[in-house]
Amino acid sequence: MNTKITLLFLLIGLVAFGQKIPKDKKQLIASVENHKEELISISDQIWANAEIAFQETESSKLLADYAEANGFTVERGVADIPTAFIATYGEGKPVISVLGEFDALPGISQKAQPTKEPLEAGAAGHGCGHNLFGTASLGAAIAVKEMIEAGKIKGTVKFIGTPAEEKFFGKLWMLEAGVWDDVDVNVSWHPSADTKADVQSSLAMVDFIVEFNGQAAHAAADPWNGRSASDALELYTTGINYYREHIKPTVRIHYHIQDGGQVVNVVPDYSKLWVRVRNTDTKGMLPVFEQVKKMAEGAAIMANVDYKYSLVSGIRETLVNRTGGAVMQENLELLGPLEYTEEEIAFGKKIQEMTDKPQVGMDSKIYPFEETRENPGGGSTDVGDVSWNVPNINLGVTVAPKDTPWHSWAVVACGRMSIGHKGMVMASKAMSMTMYDLFEDAKLVEEVKTEFKERKGDDVYKAMIPDGPPPIGN
Ligand SMILES: [Zn+2]
Repeated sequence: MNTKITLLFLLIGLVAFGQKIPKDKKQLIASVENHKEELISISDQIWANAEIAFQETESSKLLADYAEANGFTVERGVADIPTAFIATYGEGKPVISVLGEFDALPGISQKAQPTKEPLEAGAAGHGCGHNLFGTASLGAAIAVKEMIEAGKIKGTVKFIGTPAEEKFFGKLWMLEAGVWDDVDVNVSWHPSADTKADVQSSLAMVDFIVEFNGQAAHAAADPWNGRSASDALELYTTGINYYREHIKPTVRIHYHIQDGGQVVNVVPDYSKLWVRVRNTDTKGMLPVFEQVKKMAEGAAIMANVDYKYSLVSGIRETLVNRTGGAVMQENLELLGPLEYTEEEIAFGKKIQEMTDKPQVGMDSKIYPFEETRENPGGGSTDVGDVSWNVPNINLGVTVAPKDTPWHSWAVVACGRMSIGHKGMVMASKAMSMTMYDLFEDAKLVEEVKTEFKERKGDDVYKAMIPDGPPPIGN
């Protein structure tokens, strides 16, 4: 063989070796595969439970019990939240955690089929894929635990069960209780319609309630005796809607009228709104929040009623970690893109047809590692608050067809069939491999922490929550 050809073969061999999955990571993948049927069963049960914020009793128990059955020490009811828990295995440093959510959304019950039909009319559904979220994260923690048990890596792995992401934001109370205080790096993911290491931030936001109290009277016979709480409500929302013209395009203001009076022949003495202000960052959100809050007083003066303001909670934008994200990206690329059957692609296309989207099927490619955008848009998450307390590495994996409307029946439909299951299993593998890298490489942990410290600056974290216990049962 001539030298040139030998060199060529050597080069091909090196490239192929570069893409080969290392032995320990193969073991992590095998572990997730071993637990796959049980993980799918747990996810399907959480899907069927569809329990909403702070009411995830059965779903939390399913995950906590499975962690316990797999040798984790489980502490339940942390931070005075009955459905919050921490599952721990191992000892010493590093401490690597993976968090999991498991709450559903009210009113979007749906069968696991590509046409809209509720499983139970008016009931809740997993329109954000949190049945897959919590289960995949626990699967990753178990795979890592098995590596610690086998003596391949040293340290502590934690699965942190975090309730009420869709409303109230349970992680805020868990952070105040110090749940992540001893954690070096946290890993998380979110179900998505595409697959990539997630290095985009999320929006900061604040939720508050405004109530107006007036005087009831007969709407025709003696309206002059009335002071209308619904007048105040209308004046308030009118003010908010005029204000929209004078705020930055990155700001979002929403309101939900929770009580606008009961009947037409009474001057309403009570009205109530849930108001939300969002922005790319907390710094830009706070002045808008203050102004919208102040406008409630103006509306109350105009309608000659009293008003009451109450904070619900507020969350931070996410601090991204590109160092950790790059490792997650490498692991995704090692795993390679998801593959779908003809039936799954047809299921996806049917959903696209039903939601007026181009019928392109599933988006299985692994997107290249992205630049972090200044204004990412999108939603908000209380993972943002975790990311100001501990470095956080994030991932998104396809569990629904391209362009699927989120928080909708279409996501619920995919969450209890093979499209959702495949994404869940992939997320579990990618996270376990990334956690393994953190256990393996102390320098990587330090680099991830250095980036976190730089981005955080001199910020002193304080959760934006009212005094008193978490709003369980509200
Ligand atoms: Zn979600």
